[in-house]
Amino acid sequence: MANIQRLKYLGHSIVFQEVPNEISLAINISGCPYKCKGCHSSYLWEYEGRYISDDIEALINKHDGITCVCFMGGDQNPQELNRLIDYVHLRGLKVCLYTGSDNIPKDIFHLDYLKTGHYSEKLGGLDKSTTNQRFYIVHNDEEYFDMTIMFRKEMQNVIKDNQES
Ligand code: SF4
Repeated sequence: MANIQRLKYLGHSIVFQEVPNEISLAINISGCPYKCKGCHSSYLWEYEGRYISDDIEALINKHDGITCVCFMGGDQNPQELNRLIDYVHLRGLKVCLYTGSDNIPKDIFHLDYLKTGHYSEKLGGLDKSTTNQRFYIVHNDEEYFDMTIMFRKEMQNVIKDNQES
């Protein structure tokens, strides 16, 4: 059996676009197994950084006002990721996973949001009509509502207009 390593991360930030309608603490998990051609975050390919399980509590404490934690990767260690997801929920926050897998992971539970799909230079990211990637709202580990269209520029303009009127 392959040796499953504890999850490490290389940096974090507060983001508004990655999960619509949420203020998210995005945590960049290293050791990405997908190695997509044209990846804009290839610094995450190496297994480097601090252990996320040592820091998750302090990271959340430091960022008052967030509504969601977005794990950018981490599904290479589903057991640990599941523990982190449960901890984030205990803190009263929602959870999103961005994975480079083209499939909905069957061993990750209790997500509120999920982005799937490797990055393809030809097909583009979530904001492109040609994208292979998908963004879902998840209910009870059973229902996956495809909300990818919310990332399209024209849809964002409609949302903005509605908010302003
Ligand atoms: S999943 Fe994301 S970080 Fe990993 S190689 Fe693909 S684009 Fe890069």
